[in-house]
Parts: sequence; C-alpha cells; structure tokens
Amino acid sequence: MTEVIIKSAEYEYDILKPVVFEFMNALGGKRISQDSRVIIKPNLLAAAVPEKAIVTHPMVIRAVVEFVNERGARPQISDSPAIGTFQKILDESGITQAIKGLNVECREFKGAVNVDIGRPFNSIEIARDAMEADFLINLPKLKTHAQMKLTLGVKNTFGCIIGMKKPEWHLRSGVDRELFADLLARISKAVKPDITIMDGILSMEGQGPGKGGTPRKLGVVMGSRSPAAIDIAVCKMIGLDPLSLLTNKMSALTGPAIEDVTITGELPAISEFELPVMSPAVFGPVALHSFIRKHLVQRPVADPSLCRMCGECRKYCPAHAITQDKKKIYFDYDTCIRCYCCLEVCPHGALTAKESMPGSVVRRLLRIR
Ligand code: SF4
Ligand code: SF4
Repeated sequence: MTEVIIKSAEYEYDILKPVVFEFMNALGGKRISQDSRVIIKPNLLAAAVPEKAIVTHPMVIRAVVEFVNERGARPQISDSPAIGTFQKILDESGITQAIKGLNVECREFKGAVNVDIGRPFNSIEIARDAMEADFLINLPKLKTHAQMKLTLGVKNTFGCIIGMKKPEWHLRSGVDRELFADLLARISKAVKPDITIMDGILSMEGQGPGKGGTPRKLGVVMGSRSPAAIDIAVCKMIGLDPLSLLTNKMSALTGPAIEDVTITGELPAISEFELPVMSPAVFGPVALHSFIRKHLVQRPVADPSLCRMCGECRKYCPAHAITQDKKKIYFDYDTCIRCYCCLEVCPHGALTAKESMPGSVVRRLLRIR
C-alpha cells in the first residue's frame, strides 16, 4: 500500500511549517544528514506573484528548506523553467525573500545525464543534479493543464528535462496524449523523488497551468513517497475518475495501482472544480484526421487585446506552428500538435484553447470526451 497524508493548511507560516515538518518526518526526511545532497524541485513555471497560483508557494519552499537545515544539510533549489530566467522567477515569485537567511543554494538545472526509460523513448537526458541527489524533494503545485487536464506530482518531474529539450519531447509525442502521459510517468519513475509535497492551498482551475488559469483556494497540502499516489488522491478529492487522468493510467501500469493508495487524513470533497475543456487531439476515421484536427479539434487562439506580441509562444512552439508579423500572431492549425505549450508560456495570459462550434457539436454527437 502507498500512503498519502492529507492536511488542511494555510500559508500563514506558523500553521504551515508544522504541517510540512510532519510530512518530512513521517515520509523519510529523517534520512537526511549533514552529508546529504538534497535537491528541492518546486514548480517554477513563470515569474508570478503567489496570488496567481502559478508557482509553488514561497512559504512551502521555506518550510522544506528549514527542515533540511535542521537536519544539518544545505539544500539546493532547482528547476528548468520554460519562460524567463530562473533568478527572475525566484525574485518575482517571492522565493528569494522567503528563503533569506537560510542555508540554501539556488541553481538552475543545467547538466544532464542519459537515462534509458525504455521503449519507445529509450534514452532521455535528465538533469544530473536530480538524478544524483541523495534526497529529492518534489514540490508540485495543484493546477489544471490544457493538454494533460492536471499538472500534479508526476508532471512536475518533467521540469527535470532541461530547457528546449522539453518541447522536443512534446514534438516526439505529437498528438498522442497517452504517449506523452507514458513519457511523463516514466520520467517520474526515473527521477524517483523521495518525497512529494503538493501545494494545494491555493490551486489553479480553468485554463491552467499559466496565466490563463484561475486561482482557487482549496486549503490542502498532501504528502507521499509516491508522486503518482498524490495524483490519484487529488482526482478523488475533486471527484474525477483517477483513471481518466492519463498520467495516472500510465503510472498504474508499474504501480501504485489505484486501489493500493491509502489516504490518511480527511479528504475534502471539492465540488465543481473547473477542468479545462478538452476534446481529444484527434478522433474519428484515420482518413479524416487531418481535416478533423484542422477544423474540429480545439485550438490555441490569441486574444488580441491581451497579446503584446512578445513572441514567446512562437519561440517555444515545438511544431513551429506560430508565425508573427508586426501586428498579429498566426497559427498553422495543420502543423499544430495541440500540446498547448504556447498557453503555458504566454506571459500575458493571451492564449486559450478554444473549440470551434462545429467541433463541439460533432464531439457531442459522437459522445467524445
Ligand atoms: S500570445 Fe502571448 S506569448 Fe504569444 S506573442 Fe502574444 S503575448 Fe506573447
Ligand atoms: S501552436 Fe501551441 S498548441 Fe500548437 S504546437 Fe505550437 S505550442 Fe503546441
């Protein structure tokens, strides 16, 4: 059985710190000693104030750093952000201020080692610091995700793939979401965090995981030795069939199975948690896939009143499906693989995934969800 511990909490430090310490003590943190190389991997998607719910809250990070310090070790906070510089994210998200005075190093993932994660992916480059850590602490944020529905414990380890290697893997998985979920599950298994603590105090619903999402207070923190078990518990909490989350489905192939996850603590029933609208990236007869994808599958759309023409989406798009002139950005919906990386990286929340009216009608007629 794999345990997930659930606690209600606030960001007020006097309330949060004992909760984080309890998780660390109960889930293996006592193994940390003076000589341990400890890596803390938060979600550092983009520079944003904590109220936007885009990054792991600075107080959660602070509490973990303090615990590691009390064990005598000096942890390293690392990630490989998609947008902006690592230092800017730490500064603007309030993390630099929160960890002031603590014995901690902040260093972006740079070097990588090749890890064989099995067919069909085979060798993949994963951050060396994460792979060689004596103790890896995974600190995801509970958020929705336009491509994968939710980004939780398993998906957070994708941040151990460095820089532009991430969009390359999106492209290799193409429109096949199950294949991408399999990739995420295998990376998570390879990275093998020792403990995962999920920040679900202020979560994100709607069109996450970037600035297009909507913060929603849930007031929960979860801890487990298994990121996949956390993801299953989150689904149960928001009333979602755990197997409908593809990362759960693929993680369950090697365990833990859904029924092997035990929950300690009260799982709050969260109603009407708004998930992103998701039609399959492709459906219907193979001969019509190209037509269906172009005209019927939901697509990234820019709001001209919010777009500042910064070009971030164009630079990051793995399929090179975005072009721009002086006034506008353009999408090539034939080439677009519907990975929604552009929504994730847009610093101005100008992009949403929209379904066309005919697409919505056809999907409902075919009862596709
Ligand atoms: S959609 Fe967003 S990322 Fe793309 S150019 Fe406009 S503001 Fe920049
Ligand atoms: S346009 Fe957006 S959704 Fe389409 S492939 Fe590029 S990043 Fe992915």
